[in-house]
Amino acid sequence: MDFKITHEYENSRLGVVKTRHGKFKTPVFIPVATLASVRALDNKDLEEMGVEVILANTYHLFLRPGDKLIKKLGGLHKFMNYNKPIITDSGGFQAFSLGLGMEHGVGKIADNIFLEGLRSREYRGDKWASVDDEGITFKNHITGELVRLTPKKSMEIQSNLGSDIIFALDECTSPLSDKEYTAEALKRTHRWAEECLKYYDRKQALFGVVQGGEYRDLRIKSAKFMVEKEFAGFGIGGSLGKSKQDMLNIIEWVIPLLPEDKPRHLLGIGAIEDIFNCVERGIDMFDCVAPTRWARRGHLYISPIEGGNKENKFRIHIQNSRFREDENPIDRECDCYVCKNYSRAYLRHLYTSGELIYFRLASYHNVYFMLRLMDRIREAIKENRYFELKKEWLGYV
Ligand SMILES: [Zn+2]
Repeated sequence: MDFKITHEYENSRLGVVKTRHGKFKTPVFIPVATLASVRALDNKDLEEMGVEVILANTYHLFLRPGDKLIKKLGGLHKFMNYNKPIITDSGGFQAFSLGLGMEHGVGKIADNIFLEGLRSREYRGDKWASVDDEGITFKNHITGELVRLTPKKSMEIQSNLGSDIIFALDECTSPLSDKEYTAEALKRTHRWAEECLKYYDRKQALFGVVQGGEYRDLRIKSAKFMVEKEFAGFGIGGSLGKSKQDMLNIIEWVIPLLPEDKPRHLLGIGAIEDIFNCVERGIDMFDCVAPTRWARRGHLYISPIEGGNKENKFRIHIQNSRFREDENPIDRECDCYVCKNYSRAYLRHLYTSGELIYFRLASYHNVYFMLRLMDRIREAIKENRYFELKKEWLGYV
């Protein structure tokens, strides 16, 4: 793998990542193909809309259909007939979402309203994953059997999948984990990183993940540890604190410690406001299930000219009765296949009737919308007018 920065504007950077399966431009938004498919979209759709890289989930593919079967069938690229760069995560995040995240009932960022609700909430029941010093034990959510993921095993699975960029196994803590627990987890993450470096497939590019929760000294310790190792790039992962401001603070502590010439991936974040705030702080790569997940739930992205703003998170809900007779496209500024051919009224009808084509059309628009936004962000960096574009979208700089 090779990474070249072609332009910098303040802390934001334009770059190109080259892999065995071609290259992609950064800053990049990476659609998620959890089970070797970007939900509801075909490779032809991805090609047409200009997707340059996707991210698949190691843990899910390990369970179903199994990394060994995928290897037997020629690897992930051949299996899904996708010939561009593929990234796989380490499986560590699933230990969080099925373990501590489930126990604490939270995501990567816990907001205060949520925390208040939580105090009165009962424990949510079964944890599906538990962590010890050597690895993670999962209860297979399909069969109920226990499965084990260790650093070596994560490297082996990702090698079988044959993805271009892989991640070292890490322990993702919860925003509700205290400092003592987070420090212990960090020791594990660092030990696991060293093991992954020992065992990873040299044909793949291995990224290390900076952890440490919302604690400044732990994040700094983790960044310093990771940059001394031979990683091709770095993820910033785990709990990103209790608010969006905490997340930005974490990025500001970590970024100055990372080498300029390696890509930085903020794992699992992809809201429009976050992308703007993180690109200006030097993040190059984002992945998120948001565009396809929101699409399936009826939420479609709109730009500022259609009334999109940080309060409505740049989304309309297509079910709203005000769209019943609306002959306009989802977004007048969007030139995607869906916006060129179909009205809000038609999409509302498809959604409310549960028509299958709704899922494809809605997912198509949302993914396309994110890709074009990234085009505009890259263009604005290149022309040194990033903050003008940000102001146009967010209303602040
Ligand atoms: Zn569109």
